[in-house]
Amino acid sequence: MSYDICTVGTGPAGLAAALALAQTGLRIAVIGPAPNGQDTRTAALFAGSVTLLENLGLGEACRADGEPIFAIRVIDDMGGLLRAPEVTFTAQEVERELFGLNISNVGLVRALRERMLQSSNITLIEDNVTAVTVADDHAAITLAAGPVVTARLVVGADGRNSLCRQAAGIDIKTWGYDQSAIACTFTHSGKHRGISTEFHRPAGPMTFVPATPNSSGLVWVEHPTVAAEMAALDTEAFRVVLAERLQGLLGDIGKIGPRAVFPLSGLVAKDAGRSRVALVGEAAHVIPPIGAQGLNLGLRDAASIADCVTDALATGADIGGDSVLAAYGRMRHTDISARIWSIDLLNRSLLVQSPPVQALRGLGLHILKSVGPLRRFAIREGLHPSFVMPRLMQPHAASAGSPHP
Ligand SMILES: Cc1cc2nc3c(=O)[nH]c(=O)nc-3n(C[C@H](O)[C@H](O)[C@H](O)COP(=O)(O)OP(=O)(O)OC[C@H]3O[C@@H](n4cnc5c(N)ncnc54)[C@H](O)[C@@H]3O)c2cc1C
Repeated sequence: MSYDICTVGTGPAGLAAALALAQTGLRIAVIGPAPNGQDTRTAALFAGSVTLLENLGLGEACRADGEPIFAIRVIDDMGGLLRAPEVTFTAQEVERELFGLNISNVGLVRALRERMLQSSNITLIEDNVTAVTVADDHAAITLAAGPVVTARLVVGADGRNSLCRQAAGIDIKTWGYDQSAIACTFTHSGKHRGISTEFHRPAGPMTFVPATPNSSGLVWVEHPTVAAEMAALDTEAFRVVLAERLQGLLGDIGKIGPRAVFPLSGLVAKDAGRSRVALVGEAAHVIPPIGAQGLNLGLRDAASIADCVTDALATGADIGGDSVLAAYGRMRHTDISARIWSIDLLNRSLLVQSPPVQALRGLGLHILKSVGPLRRFAIREGLHPSFVMPRLMQPHAASAGSPHP
């Protein structure tokens, strides 16, 4: 029960981190429960994330399960006197075929697990961790079933209430939003034409992301009381309100999948790595589901920790030592802070109803619509920050495709 690296958490960020780290040839343990298959969310994954998945050997699964996104349209539905212009960002204008792929969380986790089970240097332990103890040269991870696993580096991918984060003594900053998101998928008679549409509404955005050729994933942000009421409606009543909000955009609404409500909140860990623990995914940062940034950020964590461990191996450094974790922290700091700040600003710009704020928001959209270079810059940086390019997010990374022998 002694490994080089132990990844705690079997969500998409943890599984991707384990696969990325496995490419170093080190022995990896992944600890977490089996998926319950009940996640109603889809994840729009942008170019860097799709490249990572391809380099981890999931290209075929992504193409089979993921629906391409060619354009992102923003529609002002604030109901104000000064309506901001509708803006459509297309992949073509930044010389890309597509922005990315939208994949169901259930399908993504299944594909990552299947790939992981093919890797001879990853051991999956389906259990919960009850304690993590950090010593000078290793960390000890106690499983609910009793045994203790040791490793030189722990990757804490155990979500927002991360036990690994607490064990490493990493402080967090948290904040709340008076908003919840309803997430589900539904079929429709009209074509989405690969366009993801975001209605900007006073309670928050309402987004429709292509899920299959004739279905879309819905992320509907509302005041928590309204979201709870909407989620509790019977299917027919929900269909009526959904149709009202869609304004005929996707034709007739067909089958509506199970709905789940996600209260919105924010969290950021003060360090991404310390005391033999590197945090990835929501253990390190939680942001509202606006602009599809959360898991894209988590996958950049996964690819970055793999870079740091690879560099440590090249120089003979301790893979869980302070210098490696400090390098990981530096590598992730600006990207995480910038996304948290920009998503928070965008969300709050919808919630503040004062005319000057709304005028500024409208002006911003107007400038983005009319100034080509600025729009192209916003698209590129929105999809993937230019200053973060871990090796596994670069096309055709050396060990692409095959799990390590
Ligand atoms: C409505 C909505 C829509 C979204 N849409 C997008 C999108 O389009 N694009 C995008 O990029 N992001 C999106 N996100 C964000 C994205 O869903 C999350 O970032 C992602 O699911 C987080 O994955 P994770 O692996 O970090 O955490 P989780 O999925 O929470 O995984 C944590 C794992 O750790 C395990 N765990 C916890 N404690 C323990 C323990 N003690 N021992 C062992 N295991 C443990 C849990 O069982 C779980 O498997 C959306 C979020 C919401 C709410």
